[in-house]
Amino acid sequence: MPNKLLNKIVSFMTGNGQKKAPTYVRRVIPRDQHTVSRSVISEPAKKVLNRLNNAGFEAYLVGGGVRDVLLGGQPKDFDIATDATPEEVHDLFRNSRLIGRRFRIVHVLFGREVIEVTTFRGNASDADDEDDDDRRTNEHGLLLRDNVYGNMEEDALRRDFTVNALYYCIKDFSIIDYANGIEDLNKRQIRLIGDPETRYREDPVRMLRAIRFAAKLDFDIEPATEAPIRTLAPLLTHIPPARLFEEVLKLFSAGHGEATYDLLQQYDLLAPLFPETARALAAGEPDDLIRQALRNTDDRIRQGKSVTPYFLYAAILWPALQAEWRKRQDDGEPVQPALHGAIGKVIGRQVQATAIPKRFSGPMKEIWELQMRLPRRQGKRAYVTMEHPRFRAAYDFLLVREAAGEIEPGLGQWWTEFQAADDRDREKMLSELGSESSGPRKRRRRRSPANKA
Ligand code: ATP
Ligand code: MG
Repeated sequence: MPNKLLNKIVSFMTGNGQKKAPTYVRRVIPRDQHTVSRSVISEPAKKVLNRLNNAGFEAYLVGGGVRDVLLGGQPKDFDIATDATPEEVHDLFRNSRLIGRRFRIVHVLFGREVIEVTTFRGNASDADDEDDDDRRTNEHGLLLRDNVYGNMEEDALRRDFTVNALYYCIKDFSIIDYANGIEDLNKRQIRLIGDPETRYREDPVRMLRAIRFAAKLDFDIEPATEAPIRTLAPLLTHIPPARLFEEVLKLFSAGHGEATYDLLQQYDLLAPLFPETARALAAGEPDDLIRQALRNTDDRIRQGKSVTPYFLYAAILWPALQAEWRKRQDDGEPVQPALHGAIGKVIGRQVQATAIPKRFSGPMKEIWELQMRLPRRQGKRAYVTMEHPRFRAAYDFLLVREAAGEIEPGLGQWWTEFQAADDRDREKMLSELGSESSGPRKRRRRRSPANKA
């Protein structure tokens, strides 16, 4: 096939084909030499492992489920690797769904818990020679499909990081380590398996995953794994926006959002994800609000509270919105139309980088628009604003702006008291606004809340 030929030529020219992969030795760590005990593995995960084993298949816990337990943490979910094909897994579990195209897997559903079951994947170079479409890369080295099955060792070596390629066997309680994962876990470092540049080209999202795990686990990124990131960061623009949206949510919803944000900036990864924000920051727009919002988000997650994607996006895109809003006002547009124009433009550009599903972009716009309505409280306005379905989020956003020092404190406190007050006190609060009522409004008209100084 001409495409394959082209890939080979490109890979030859770039030298990727000539790089030697490090050699790895398979190690088995018996039960008495590690800390993973069956009691920390969820019942559904154990059920899936046992049923696969009883049906004569190999099945292991792998990925975050093993890594996080070894580190003394609570895994977010449990992933299982098996030699059963997706169809065979699907046949064994009535409560399962076959999903994915680029990467076919099975989800076994137990109430709210989803166990992800993946069939052992084969390795790239062997598959390249095959005349089929199951494993394909494009001219940038990007892996388009990855459905070539293989043995357990191949499966381990096509995983991203060494600490993610540890397998737990429920039959004899051992851990199987193909890529020195235990050593890197002890050294607390994120290391790609194989040649870093090739692995990032196959899937540039691995750069984001490196950052995510480094922030979440408080690990270093090993020098060779770290080295190509800045240069290859622009490859993320080849990733479908919908996948990047999902990755952004994972980046910021693990409870280490601020650390993640620092790393993204440090490795030039903010620009491919949030080009408008990166541009605004480079032009001098402050990011105090982003940081404050991420700190709040991290606190919320630690308290077990939920975080809404639209709040996160409203915060991360805020500097871009400010810059665009101000520019339009400087060009003579009145505040309100300038805001609407800026909102449209910022969202329009953002969805080219990471998608924003409509159910999130709508509320995000409302949070922004309400920032202009919150100062205007006279007459019935405060009541009307409070009835808005996005009032609560907009009020939270206002508090973040105040905490970030973007606007003078006071308004947030007023709304806090107003919400808690009874009817009589509310009327009193409104009448106290009285004569000064037009003051802040006028000021805001001339000098948009966008402007700090
Ligand atoms: P967490 O679930 O805590 O986010 P995880 O390591 O389990 O972390 P998942 O996204 O659940 O991450 O993926 C499960 C495993 O699949 C990973 O540990 C890794 O072995 C493999 N994997 C996931 N994404 C990739 C990728 N882009 N390239 C290579 N291997 C991957
Ligand atoms: Mg996982």
